[in-house]
Amino acid sequence: MLSFEDIVSLDSRYVFQTYTRQPLALVSGSGAVVRDVKGREYIDCVAGIASCNLGHCHPAVVEAVKRQVERLMHVTNLYYTEVQAVLAERLTRLCGMERVFFCNSGTEAVEAALKLARRTTGRTDFIAASGSFHGRTLGALSITSKEEYRAPFKPLIEKVSFVPYGDIEALVDAITGSTAAVVLESVQGEGGVNIPPGGYLREVREVCDERDVLLIVDEVQTGFGRTGAWFGFQHSGIQPDIITLAKSIANGFPMGAMLACGRAGEGFQRGDHASTFGGNPLACAAAKATIDVLEREKLCEAAREMGAYFMKRLEDVSLDFVELRGRGLMIGMEFEGGCSSLVQRALERGVLLNCTSERVLRFVPPLNITRQQVDEVVQAIDE
Ligand SMILES: *Cc1c(COP(=O)(O)O)cnc(C)c1O
Repeated sequence: MLSFEDIVSLDSRYVFQTYTRQPLALVSGSGAVVRDVKGREYIDCVAGIASCNLGHCHPAVVEAVKRQVERLMHVTNLYYTEVQAVLAERLTRLCGMERVFFCNSGTEAVEAALKLARRTTGRTDFIAASGSFHGRTLGALSITSKEEYRAPFKPLIEKVSFVPYGDIEALVDAITGSTAAVVLESVQGEGGVNIPPGGYLREVREVCDERDVLLIVDEVQTGFGRTGAWFGFQHSGIQPDIITLAKSIANGFPMGAMLACGRAGEGFQRGDHASTFGGNPLACAAAKATIDVLEREKLCEAAREMGAYFMKRLEDVSLDFVELRGRGLMIGMEFEGGCSSLVQRALERGVLLNCTSERVLRFVPPLNITRQQVDEVVQAIDE
């Protein structure tokens, strides 16, 4: 096995240096624990950035992938596969949608949603929120608000307006006769775990209905039990026209999906969109197993209960934070200044954390993290 230094040296020589990486090379994991090349263990409160909601290498997902990989890894969407058809039914029922398009990542799901919104409405413009994050391809980047990410790649889709997240009046004012869709996260993830004011999504739904505008909810980070419901929008009791999924959909296996209902559910015609790998048998098998486990192990409930416990414990840590906020096991601790040094120090104490929007320490551990592991994390932070 290569040493840590060898790995870093290869990476720095051959990989585009687009990431700010932690000084850590990981080799294995199980549950909420990962191990590095030096054999050291860490409690993982990053979980692939909310992509491994069942924990690392969940045996049911491993088994499903093993079984599928021995039979058929890939075909193309020129043919039917049972596993894709069965997953399509499970997934649409779970989120109250009618149809699904399978792809391979969050940003691709967002691209599909934008294209579907234009195709369905015949309109061109979008409204997104400040603090939003929807991905890095040109379309998704166009509705992502962070100027640092956007500036080097302009011109983007020009017909996008940004309104403050949670401000319904601003949204009403921004809608025009050319608005195809409003795109929002049910809780903003990369923007700093921002929870909208109560009733906001419901009001957005009403306004969209009145003005005949589609509502796209990006559930890439908030999906699959993360917030204590299957999908974040379900806390508001609304039904979006389109949702986007990825991250934890297959517990870490690369996959994305875009689902729609109503007129958006009929918006695409044959040939309008496609993906070579989208809905491939291996990804579908992993996703199906992930849904089974979420149900069987009651992980939405676990996220609610452990999230409440985690928040309660974090309130008492001896750190000078500005605000603690969260929904389920999606928790953010905001500081006055940057928190990257805290991430470093937690790493030294065997805890993986991540800092988003510079000043927000984010906790998105596997939903089956144990009470004892939460206690260990809190103790490490306290120290
Ligand atoms: C991570 C994320 C994306 C992008 O997903 P990728 O798989 O990295 O392309 C899009 N939307 C939200 C809300 C995300 O958190």
